[in-house]
Amino acid sequence: MPELPEIERLAAQLRRAVVGRDVARVLGRRRGMLNVAPDEASARLGGPLREVRRRGKEAVLSGERADAWLHLGLGGEVRAATAGDAERAAGALVFADGTALVVDKVFMGHLHVLPPAESQQRWESYGRDPLDPSFDVAALAGALRARPRAALKAALTDQSAIAGIGNLYADEILLCAGLHPLRRVATLGDADLRRLHEAMQAVLREAVAAGGEAGYVGVDGQPGSYRARIHRQPACGRCGTPTVELRLSGRVTTVCPLCQPAPGEARDA
Ligand SMILES: [Zn+2]
Repeated sequence: MPELPEIERLAAQLRRAVVGRDVARVLGRRRGMLNVAPDEASARLGGPLREVRRRGKEAVLSGERADAWLHLGLGGEVRAATAGDAERAAGALVFADGTALVVDKVFMGHLHVLPPAESQQRWESYGRDPLDPSFDVAALAGALRARPRAALKAALTDQSAIAGIGNLYADEILLCAGLHPLRRVATLGDADLRRLHEAMQAVLREAVAAGGEAGYVGVDGQPGSYRARIHRQPACGRCGTPTVELRLSGRVTTVCPLCQPAPGEARDA
């Protein structure tokens, strides 16, 4: 599933591709793609697009009277196309000049066209952005503190606490910080929090620079080049030890038994 680094790249590419262009129609062939009927979505968003921002794992395309919230779900792709292609796509924006932007291969994603008040609510439902310049160690501690009894990975991927980190980058960050995903938030000391903050910055910035991970294909048709060091890897990218797979909330979590001591062992460390 595309996470912060992939959507950061998507937002940058969309900014160059669509800002200033006139939306004529919004299409949503796949069930659940749009939040309102296509005619209503078109009426809300119709006209020039003013800006594109990223919030969490969504790209927000702002028109003059509404915002389109684009979520790629599991593995969705966005590409430039013709209005004819748009009719067959899962979702699309058709521009006044007859070209289009289509969303395809999308499972559990959406294109929600929201009026300003609802859009503001959606914006505020997300937690702190880890790449915001004001997101320091204290801000990280504050964001995690809301769920002291939660497992660290669950807290890191809680979008209402910290926005944009999902299953893959949480594993990468935890390896980099040398922290086990099942550590309880309340057991983290100052040094742990500093290492976690540093690891978040390092991993996310490296992944943004790489254009996201290799499974994500950008608007330009090019895959990202970030290679996971731990997530779904047979051996730890740091020390080479065979990894262990855990299931947390039904999702695969990959851990290095050497780099990431289990909670019981951490007390002795
Ligand atoms: Zn290791």
